[in-house]
Amino acid sequence: MEPYRIKVVEPIPITTREQREEALKRVHYNLFDLRADEVTIDLLSDSGTGALSAAQLAAGMEGDESYAGSRSFYRFRDTVAELTGYPHILPAHQGRAAERILFSSLLEPGSIVLSNTHFDTTRANVELAGCQARDLPCPQARNLDSEEPFKGNIDLEALRRELAGADGPKVAAVVMTITNNGGGGQPVSMENLRQAADLCRRHGVPLLLDAARFAENAWLVTRHEAGYQDRTPRQVAEEAFRLADGCMMSAKKDGIVHIGGFIGLKDPELAEKCERLLIATEGFATYGGLAGRDLDMMAQGLLEVTEPSYLAERADIAAHLAQRVRVAGVDILEPPGLHALYLNAGRLFPHIPAHHYPGHALSCQLYLEGGIRSAELGSLYLGEEDEDGNPVKSAPYELVRLALPRRVYTRSHYDHVGRTLEGIAKKAESVGGFRIVDQSPILRHFRVKLQPV
Ligand SMILES: *Cc1c(COP(=O)(O)O)cnc(C)c1O
Repeated sequence: MEPYRIKVVEPIPITTREQREEALKRVHYNLFDLRADEVTIDLLSDSGTGALSAAQLAAGMEGDESYAGSRSFYRFRDTVAELTGYPHILPAHQGRAAERILFSSLLEPGSIVLSNTHFDTTRANVELAGCQARDLPCPQARNLDSEEPFKGNIDLEALRRELAGADGPKVAAVVMTITNNGGGGQPVSMENLRQAADLCRRHGVPLLLDAARFAENAWLVTRHEAGYQDRTPRQVAEEAFRLADGCMMSAKKDGIVHIGGFIGLKDPELAEKCERLLIATEGFATYGGLAGRDLDMMAQGLLEVTEPSYLAERADIAAHLAQRVRVAGVDILEPPGLHALYLNAGRLFPHIPAHHYPGHALSCQLYLEGGIRSAELGSLYLGEEDEDGNPVKSAPYELVRLALPRRVYTRSHYDHVGRTLEGIAKKAESVGGFRIVDQSPILRHFRVKLQPV
């Protein structure tokens, strides 16, 4: 059960099917353009959408809003330094700001960054620094149905080849994303992290953690990795940070705050370079674009997130929803992680071709039938067509992500999601696809307009 009870509540909008049908037409079937008060269960993202604890709000009231050297900064810095073991801690307003500052300070144009999988903003910031981002996911990640526990791992053979190959001298960093968000939220094993760290050390390349979900990764390690059963998630997380040379963090995930992030580093010279850029573009080094109260709430969230009772319940509620979805007859990317479930829309709607977006069709149907907002991760997000709408490139899988906000929805909310999917699966063959009527050249899924086929 939830290791907390509810002290403050927020009504959720209950709408009629007619209202939802109207809303879908008005936004040209683009769920990003819905108003949040038209959405009953919002599973668009787990980023910055969590519920604060009483202890976090209390910590926020203690916030010291001094421009420089606030008590909040020192409390935040000590908490993060203890967790990570890094002596240099720089706050930033969110993960991508940390990425931009770290990559602009570390990378020379023309260099290469290797990763288990770059998150999309991470890739964008590598490319903005004039560099190339290469993904090396492990081969197990390609099988959506297998139950293997560490499908977020980096392909160590490929990493060895890249580091020792002709492009080896151009590799400026290796980024391990824990959990592997771009790879379906799958975790990375400590063994994989240790071997990656060894390879990096041998080639003199810094290893960085993209640590947005470090606590969820640690939880899955204690569940599934030999030798870690008797360790606490906190101990595993501490060990993971110490295997790397530094980290970037979006605290909107495992910091359980609405805004916040940081950079942690071992190297004092790199930290100084980052600090100069931080001051020029985010804010002074003791606030980094955040208020004192944000720093205090982030520090408290980072303590709460490794509590075994919190993580056990988060895993359990994800498993509960996963089971409802399987029983409804919808396949998911197995095994289910903690921060999201990925529905296999391609398999549910085999009659809808990739260029008519089966994932988008499922997303729209979830909204129409149940007021549920989700994110398409298929050919609308990754594909490409020519001017006449004929397919040029399609995504490897047609998925829909149900992201699970932290401490926000209960089992009965997720039962509603399960029931809605069950209804959709029963008449799957009657669901139709979509065609694009208007799109922008980059990140088209945000601004696209569509029409039912
Ligand atoms: C969310 C996320 C980011 C970017 O963080 P923001 O706080 O959204 O800017 C980077 N990496 C990963 C793995 C993420 O999940």
